[in-house]
Amino acid sequence: MLRVDNVSVAFDGCQALAGTRIEVAEGETLAVLGPSGSGKTTLLRVIAGLTRPDCGRVLLDGRDVTAVPAHARGIGLMFQDGVLFPHRDVAGNVEFGLRIAGVPREQRRRRVAEVLELVGLRGFEQRPVATLSGGEQQRVALSRALAPAPRALLLDEPLGSLDGPLRARLLDDLAEVFEAIGLTAVHVTHDVGEAFALGHRVAVMLEGRVVQCAPPDELWTRPRDEWTARFLGMTNVCELDGRRVVVRPEAVRLRRGDDVTVLSVERRGAVVHVRVRGDDGDEFEAVTTELDHPRAGGRVTIDIDPAGVVELEERPSPG
Ligand code: ATP
Repeated sequence: MLRVDNVSVAFDGCQALAGTRIEVAEGETLAVLGPSGSGKTTLLRVIAGLTRPDCGRVLLDGRDVTAVPAHARGIGLMFQDGVLFPHRDVAGNVEFGLRIAGVPREQRRRRVAEVLELVGLRGFEQRPVATLSGGEQQRVALSRALAPAPRALLLDEPLGSLDGPLRARLLDDLAEVFEAIGLTAVHVTHDVGEAFALGHRVAVMLEGRVVQCAPPDELWTRPRDEWTARFLGMTNVCELDGRRVVVRPEAVRLRRGDDVTVLSVERRGAVVHVRVRGDDGDEFEAVTTELDHPRAGGRVTIDIDPAGVVELEERPSPG
C-alpha cells in the first residue's frame, strides 16, 4: 500500500537516509524504531511529501507520489506536541483539515463527533483546548489527523511528551483506534516498548538505513546483529564456540546453587531483572516472574536454554 523505495536524503553532506526501503501493507502499523539521528523523522517527512528525496521513490497504492505535493497525498500527520490552535475550541481544531478541504458545515460537525467518539472524547466539542490535559490534547491532535480520513497516518513520537500510566493508556488507545478503523500507519519512536506494543512489524533504523524489519516476536527472538540486540535491550552478548551470540535474558534460568553471584535485582512491573557474575567475570542478565527470586549478594546457579541463544551476524557496532 505504501512503499519507500531506495530513498536517500543528504543535508549539507550529512546522509540522513541512505537507500532506505520500507513497505507497509493496508491496515498495518509499521513502527520505525531507532536512536536519535537515525533518520526516522526524515523518513516520515519524505513519505508525507515535506522533504524531497535526492533519489528513490515513494509509492502509494502503487502510484509514484514522489513529486506529488504534501497536501495532495492524502496522508495524515501527528507529531510529538500536537500543537493545537490555542484560540480554537476542540471542534475548531478537529475540523481544521475538513474546513480547508471545503467540507460543508453539517458534514464537518458529524465527522468531528465521530472522530471524537473514536478517541474517547465524546462531547468535548466546545471545550477550549487550554483546559485539556496533556493526554486529552494528544487525543484531539489524533482526531484532527484522522478527521479527513487519510489513506495513511504518520506519527512522530506522538507520546513523547507524556509519561507514566497516561502514556501506557494512550498507547493502548492508539492501538485500539488503529485496529478499529483498519488504519495504515507509520509510527516513529525511539522507545522499544512502544514499538513492540504498536507495531505489527518493527523497522529498526540506524544511520539512515533499515537494519532489520520484522514482527516484534521475531525481532526479539532473532535480532540480526549485535547492535540491534543491544538496542532492543539485550546485554548477554558473548563468544560461544568461536561464534558471537546473544543469550536472550528469558533463556537464562536461575536455580539454587553456588556458581554465580547475584549483582543486582530490579523489579520492573511483573518481571524481575537479575544480574549475575560468574567467577570468570562473565556477567549475565536473567528475567524471572518468580516472587521467590534470588537477592542481591546471594549465590545461584544458571542454566542456559539453547533455544534462547541467537547467533549474530558480523557488523561493527557503531559508537
Ligand atoms: P530524533 O529521534 O532525534 O528525532 P531522527 O531519527 O528522527 O532523530 P532525523 O531527524 O531524521 O533523525 O535526522 C537524521 C539526520 O539528519 C541527523 O543527523 C540530523 O541532524 C540531520 N538532519 C535532519 N534534518 C536536517 C536539516 N533540515 N538540516 C540539516 N540536517 C538535518
